[in-house]
Amino acid sequence: MELGTYQNYIGGEWTNGFAKETFDVVNPATEQVVATVPNATPEDMQAAIDKAAAVQDEWADTLAGDRARILREAAVKMRAEADRLARIMTMEEGKPLAEARGEVNYAASFLDWFAEEATRVYGDTIPSSSPDKRLLVIKRPVGVTAAITPWNFPAAMITRKLGPALAAGCTMIIKPSELTPLSALELARILEEVGLPKGVLSVLVGTDAPALAKVIMDDIRVRKVSFTGSTEVGKILMRQAADTVKRVSMELGGHAPFLVFADADLEAAVANAVSCKMRGMGETCVSANRIYVQRPIYEEFVQKLAERMGSMRVGNGLEDGVIVGPLIEPAAIEKVKRHVADAVAKGARLVVGGEAKPAPGWFYTPTVLADVNHSMLITKEETFGPVAAVLPFDTEEEAVRYANDTPYGLAAYYFTRDVGRVFRLAERLQYGILGANDGIPSTAQAPFGGVKESGVGREGSKYGIAEYLDIKYVSLGGILS
Ligand code: ADP
Repeated sequence: MELGTYQNYIGGEWTNGFAKETFDVVNPATEQVVATVPNATPEDMQAAIDKAAAVQDEWADTLAGDRARILREAAVKMRAEADRLARIMTMEEGKPLAEARGEVNYAASFLDWFAEEATRVYGDTIPSSSPDKRLLVIKRPVGVTAAITPWNFPAAMITRKLGPALAAGCTMIIKPSELTPLSALELARILEEVGLPKGVLSVLVGTDAPALAKVIMDDIRVRKVSFTGSTEVGKILMRQAADTVKRVSMELGGHAPFLVFADADLEAAVANAVSCKMRGMGETCVSANRIYVQRPIYEEFVQKLAERMGSMRVGNGLEDGVIVGPLIEPAAIEKVKRHVADAVAKGARLVVGGEAKPAPGWFYTPTVLADVNHSMLITKEETFGPVAAVLPFDTEEEAVRYANDTPYGLAAYYFTRDVGRVFRLAERLQYGILGANDGIPSTAQAPFGGVKESGVGREGSKYGIAEYLDIKYVSLGGILS
């Protein structure tokens, strides 16, 4: 299936804008071009911001119920079109069709959730310090916002930002990853079709991300930027945000530890380790990157994990029965190879996998490395691929120390039947998301986000909309006169 030629969505128009050239979207399973998109320029970005700023006040003044309706109808439409959207996602990103369909539903769930939150943006009244005054708190949208999103969840990383922005009454400009622009442009179409006013949303894609981002960061009218991507780029954006004191939400890299204690339900721990590791071919910021297993069950865990990982069918995600798709680009394969070679050279045991498949497509077989130690790259850098690195540990104290020994703090997982330990570790593990006997904790109604160098702010949940609202305090005097 050739998807054809797309246009950017700038200020409510489908247009080539100022773009002088197009770029190709390539299917990572076949290396074939599936679509072309105009290569948006900084002038296009400026036009999108101008239009958003022009309609911002009007959008802020719409009724919450009306904004909620648009979000709900967009979610309904996404679900109705799930098959088509999933195919497009598989073709641009690689994840198998069933997973892509799952992501479309997951993405729609953020629109549903924030449709409800839109109508619950409550203020406060505060007991007064003077009989003649009344103290009130109201909440108002922060204004024009921008989102810069990655390729690994081409729809969900957008709705997780766009849902609360629109619910709060903010306009938004989205710059999706140049690797997966099609899902983003399809979402813009859906929002237009359910009646989102022109200019409230722009989606534009270009290959020069730093130049496009700079226009956003330099413009004082953009009051908030939400970014999901690497810690490296997040730091650049945080520095740039300082000049106009923008609010930022940053969902950055992770290096998730996955702890399995000897008292755990072993089958459940293995099954969850596989799901947690292999969702999106291991290309997620919450993928288990270091699997620590307590010594008495270590070898049994390794064998069971290897059995499951070794039996996963790898291939083009459009084919029936495939559960592991390609990685996003050749550089991703190179990184995985580098991590595996480094680990094996330093004494890791390759239990299963460890092979890049021949072209076409950027495939790597599900891999289990046992006897990993902390001198190896894989325990420090995010692998972003289908490699499970397993390390032994003896005591709880040791496991906590290992788990926390990283600049990252996004997600951590632990498996145990000891309820005291469940609470101890929830408090001691320095992570924003804790999966206690749960390898897939993400859901729209829960706060997603990290501590340390994994980011600032939270997405989803009642906390997610707060990121798009300014608190205003009104002191009303003259009550008694
Ligand atoms: P990933 O490793 O997930 O691709 P990146 O941080 O490289 O993470 O990319 C996430 C998003 O940030 C993408 O939309 C990408 O185009 C954009 N991006 C990459 N480099 C920069 C930069 N220097 N400034 C702003 N945005 C960038």
